[in-house]
Amino acid sequence: MNKFSWYEATSIEDALQQVNTTVSEELYQSTNEAAVFKSGGIDVFDWIKEGLIKPKKIINIRNIPNLDTISFHEKEGLRIGSNVTLAELATNPNIKNHYLALHQAVNHAATPQLRNMSTLGGNIAQRNRCWYFRSADHQCFRKAGDRCFARHSETGENENHAIIDNGSCVSIHASSIATALMAFNASVVIVNGKGERKEVSMDDFFVSAGKDIAMETILVAKEIITEIVIPAPSKNTKSYYIKQGARESYDWSMADVAVVIETAGDTCKSASIVLGAAAPVPYRSVQAQEAMAKKALNTENASAAAEAAMSIARPLSKNGYKVPLFKSIIKEAILKIT
Ligand SMILES: Cc1cc2nc3c(=O)[nH]c(=O)nc-3n(C[C@H](O)[C@H](O)[C@H](O)COP(=O)(O)OP(=O)(O)OC[C@H]3O[C@@H](n4cnc5c(N)ncnc54)[C@H](O)[C@@H]3O)c2cc1C
Repeated sequence: MNKFSWYEATSIEDALQQVNTTVSEELYQSTNEAAVFKSGGIDVFDWIKEGLIKPKKIINIRNIPNLDTISFHEKEGLRIGSNVTLAELATNPNIKNHYLALHQAVNHAATPQLRNMSTLGGNIAQRNRCWYFRSADHQCFRKAGDRCFARHSETGENENHAIIDNGSCVSIHASSIATALMAFNASVVIVNGKGERKEVSMDDFFVSAGKDIAMETILVAKEIITEIVIPAPSKNTKSYYIKQGARESYDWSMADVAVVIETAGDTCKSASIVLGAAAPVPYRSVQAQEAMAKKALNTENASAAAEAAMSIARPLSKNGYKVPLFKSIIKEAILKIT
């Protein structure tokens, strides 16, 4: 691990004055002069320990005041400060009562110890877990290299990788919590170095590999996430989240799905259906949403929605199992709504 200095940021403005790049920008084009944010530190220190980034300065944003509150209003919805830990989210009664799928996603993410450290801002800004991307021995497209090692049909270890939108990069997004956040139409509040504030929907926050191979989010240098905002659900909104990992105890997702449905009796008025571990970014399945809209909540329609979601899947050499797995959890999550 290289030596770096530590800066304890006291305010958003202070942090933005110190920062000069993002971990993503540094991974793509290393300057070795980087001053980067650290919140929980779990992802940042992984990159440093592997020698993939050698920042000069770590800016600890974890203790900035007022970024660690959760508030809920029946009409305005939920506001979560970017430094709120996953452990705090996991036990929040308003999240459990009004945003069940988010409660389930958080409680299935990582381990209790990791949830104590991890912040929501860091969780949605973390980079993907492709082993080639995370290996110092593999210069893949995401690190300005000349190939995707996972894609290779014989040598590529692509069991965990993407089955949708798997073009130049076949990684899957690491945040399973983002799957639920997107299904609830959450947005991300970002402040920049000039003090300007913007609110970006989760759908626009994540960047597909086809659009920009260096990035997984729109975050650039001198920008900080301050809040995640979720609209108030209508009285008839119900939700469910399912994550399938290789182990029961804890693991990254092999497949996960969040379903948020506005019901009218036994019918689905409208559906928001997002898949995790399917594509390089959390993937909104418009196909499944359309298949469920204005349909009865029953087994036949849930199966049709699952089939529709997977109609665009293009598995790699070793991850064909994901197609039936997704079909099964999408159907199950929809039927849990009834
Ligand atoms: C073994 C293991 C299993 C895991 N399993 C899961 C899982 O199942 N599901 C899941 O969702 N996650 C999982 N995680 C991820 C983990 O829970 C953390 O959320 C994640 O690693 C990063 O959170 P952090 O707060 O430590 O972020 P950090 O490491 O501090 O930061 C991550 C990135 O975000 C940037 N950043 C942080 N905060 C901000 C901000 N406010 N504004 C702008 N940029 C910011 C940092 O510069 C850095 O690039 C797992 C992690 C491990 C190690």
